[in-house]
Amino acid sequence: ERKVLGASARDTTPSYDWFQTDDLITVVIYTKQKDMDAELVIVDCQDKRLRGEIILDDHSYLVEVDLDHEVQDDFAVNIAGKVGKVEIILKKKDHFQWKVLGLPLESHNTLMKRTERGLFYRTCKLISKTEVTHDTKLFCFMLPKGTHLQVPTGQHVYLKQIIAGTEVVKPYTPLLPFLPLDFKEPSRQDGAHIYLMIKIYSCGLFTQALDRLQIGDDIFVSNPEGDFKTSQVQGVEDLFLLAAGTGFTPMVKLLNLALTKADCLRTVKLIFFNKKDDDILWRNQLEQLALRDERFEVQFILSEPAEDWVGKRGKISSSLLSECMKRSKKDSKVLICICGPTPFTEQGVQYLKDLGYSHEEMHAFTA
Ligand code: FAD
Ligand code: NAD
Repeated sequence: ERKVLGASARDTTPSYDWFQTDDLITVVIYTKQKDMDAELVIVDCQDKRLRGEIILDDHSYLVEVDLDHEVQDDFAVNIAGKVGKVEIILKKKDHFQWKVLGLPLESHNTLMKRTERGLFYRTCKLISKTEVTHDTKLFCFMLPKGTHLQVPTGQHVYLKQIIAGTEVVKPYTPLLPFLPLDFKEPSRQDGAHIYLMIKIYSCGLFTQALDRLQIGDDIFVSNPEGDFKTSQVQGVEDLFLLAAGTGFTPMVKLLNLALTKADCLRTVKLIFFNKKDDDILWRNQLEQLALRDERFEVQFILSEPAEDWVGKRGKISSSLLSECMKRSKKDSKVLICICGPTPFTEQGVQYLKDLGYSHEEMHAFTA
C-alpha cells in the first residue's frame, strides 16, 4: 500500500542521524516511506531517555537512546511527509557540545514486526471525569509534555494499573470529547489529551479501580494498536455502523472521519443496540447530529425496553439487519463496521455474510 521510495529492498530500511547547534539536538529519521504523517510517529522523551518509534505498516522502526546530557521536557517533531523525513528537535538544558547522542538502548536502531515490539507505556494524569449515563463516564487523560502521540481512528490503547499489587491491563478506544456538530471547526484534538468513554461494571476489576481514581492521579497508557485502516473509508458511499453498548466508542472518530474526509459519502447510518433507553450513550448528541447533517441517520434498538418504547426492539438478527440497512443506490460502495460484545460481533458478521456482504465490505472491531 505505502509506496516505497527507491528501487532495491536494501534501500527501504530506515536509518537515523543526528546533529547539533549550541541550543538544539536534532535527530533525523529517514523512514524511506512516502506518506509519513503525525499518527505514524510516536516520541517519548523523559529523564534523558529518548524513544522514537516510526510505524511502517505492520513493522516499526525504533530509535532508543539514553541521551548524553539533559534536555528540556518539550520538543518539536517535524515531518516532511512526501520525502519521509522525521526530525525530532530537542532543546539542550545546557550548552555543552555533545560528543555522542547517547548510549543505545536494547532495541535501538531496529526494524521489527509491531507485534514483536511489545507495548510501551507512559504515565498520564487524570484531568476530568464526567458522567455520560448512570454507569458510563468520559475520562480525560493528559499525556506528559515529553510525549508526541496521536491515536488513529479505529485504534485502541491499553491502560495499565497496579491493582492489589498486580499489573492489570485492559484495552480502551479513544474518542472525541463530543460529536462534531460543526464541521467547519476542527475537531478538538490538540494531541495532549486522550478521551475515553468507559462503562463502570459493579464487579469489574479494572473499571472499579478506574472509578476510584481522583483528578491528578496517574495511569499508564500504551501506544495505539488495531487493524482498522482509514483507507477503508475512501470511496465509500454508504457507511453502516453497528454498535452495541460501549462498542459505540470506535464509531465516534469514524463518524468524524467519514463526514469530514470521505468525498463520495452519501449516507451514514448508526444502528445502536442497547439494553434500556437510559443506557444509550450520547443520545441527544446523536439526534442533534442527525438533524444537522442530512447524510447521517441513527436508529436505536433496545433489547430490554420499557413498555412505552416506541422504537425497535430485539437483538441483532438477519431480518433486523436486512430491514434496517438499505443502500442509497443499487451497487453503491458500502462499508459496515461492527463493534460490541464478542457474541454480538460474531453473530453480526455471520448475518452480514448470509445477507451477501463480502469480507471487504465489513470491518469488525475486536481485541
Ligand atoms: P471484568 O472484571 O473483566 O468484568 C466486567 C463485567 O463483566 C463484570 O460485571 C463481570 O462480572 C462480567 N464478566 C466478565 N467476564 C464475563 C464473561 N466472560 N461473560 C459474561 N460476563 C462477564 N470498554 C469501555 O467501556 N470503553 C471502551 O472504549 C472499550 N474499548 C475496548 C476496546 C477493545 C479492543 C476491547 C477488546 C475492549 C474494550 N472495552 C471497552 C472493554 C474493556 O477492555 C474491559 O473489558 C471492560 O472495561 C471491563 O473491564 P473490567 O476489568 O472492569 O471488568
Ligand atoms: P451490554 O451488555 O449493555 O449490551 C448492549 C447490547 O449488546 C444489548 O442490548 C444487545 O443488543 C447486545 N448484546 C449483548 N450481549 C449479546 C449477545 N450475547 N448476543 C447478541 N447481542 C448481545 O453491552 P456493554 O456492557 O456496553 O458491553 C460492550 C462490549 O463491547 C464489551 O464487551 C466490550 O468489551 C466491547 N467493546 C469492544 C471494543 C473493541 O473490540 N474494539 C470496543 C469497545 C467495546
